[in-house]
Amino acid sequence: MAVLITGIGELTTNDPELGKLRDAALVLDGETVVWAGPAAQAPDADERVDVEGRAVLPGWVDSHTHLVFAGDRTAEFEARMAGQAYAAGGIAVTVGATRAASDEQLAANLRRHVEEAAAQGTTCLETKTGYGLNVVDETRSARIAGEVADEVTFLGAHLVPPGADAESYVDLVCGEMLDAVAPHVRWADVFCETGAFDEAQSARVLKAAAERGLGLRVHGNQLGEGPGVRLAVELDAASVDHCTYLSDADVEALASSNTVATALPACDLSTRQSLAPARRLLDAGATVALASNANPGSSYTTSMAFCVTTAVLQMRMTVDEAVWSATAGGARALRRDDVGYLRPGARADVHVLDAPSTTHLAYRPGVPLTHAVWRKGAKLR
Ligand SMILES: [Zn+2]
Repeated sequence: MAVLITGIGELTTNDPELGKLRDAALVLDGETVVWAGPAAQAPDADERVDVEGRAVLPGWVDSHTHLVFAGDRTAEFEARMAGQAYAAGGIAVTVGATRAASDEQLAANLRRHVEEAAAQGTTCLETKTGYGLNVVDETRSARIAGEVADEVTFLGAHLVPPGADAESYVDLVCGEMLDAVAPHVRWADVFCETGAFDEAQSARVLKAAAERGLGLRVHGNQLGEGPGVRLAVELDAASVDHCTYLSDADVEALASSNTVATALPACDLSTRQSLAPARRLLDAGATVALASNANPGSSYTTSMAFCVTTAVLQMRMTVDEAVWSATAGGARALRRDDVGYLRPGARADVHVLDAPSTTHLAYRPGVPLTHAVWRKGAKLR
């Protein structure tokens, strides 16, 4: 059944030829966009929805979340806001709670957060394992994630489990754990950071994953400069995420690669780091994505609008750049072009704002502007 969405005051297509259209319309057929253009030229459809001058953009593509978890880290957050520094080790608290939870509890918690994100316009979402850190719990985390999320990443190399020997743990991740998890995931990731995994250990994990045909992602340069970005570029990772502390060489390497620099502003704020240097990356010619990093420790928000607002107000991105990075940029970080666009052939993931333009995302910070959402052609709200 074809649905005509008309009366669009401003249509962000992200398509270089279609650009941004005024007085526009869209036609969805099943799960796909079949037409985009001026409302006056729109073809007929079975159903007609008039959005009365509102802005329409592709649904957010959140390319970085950690939502297979149980438990709560409010106390750690309180301590951090009272001045305690963030360290990678807090992850272990969530690992304990996740291992103790049933499959049903993990799935219900994941589903609740994915629905929370969708209600705010997120229509394509990646999530990761990484709170199991043993073969059984990493494998069930991957399986549960695959039932709910669009994209699943294996992050067995999130943290060396307390009490374990780092080298033996990396052996396990690269061998038995990877074999068990690989059928459930498209991507593998590693937390390449002081307190997590060093360059040699990170390279071992990534190479083992690539040998099994998985795409690569890297958590890097979150807490200081380090080898994460260089390694990601060398191994043609789809994305290196955080990028809070970058050397000039890191910026140059990203600019001349296919690796997307994914900024996670909600995480930078929640850990009281500086914000990632998105302006510097864009000016150098790098591709920047914005993602929520939704997780219970360092960034407990599913709001992509908050990330876009922060990117504009505090990271000196323009509204158009920030919106692109949170839609098509996220898609690029997942090496996809079926999401993040509104043009014929794209997935029918549509976000209608209760505002006449996307500028209102930054102009009206903190105001919930999601008016309607279609995901794969189905109206969610
Ligand atoms: Zn993360």
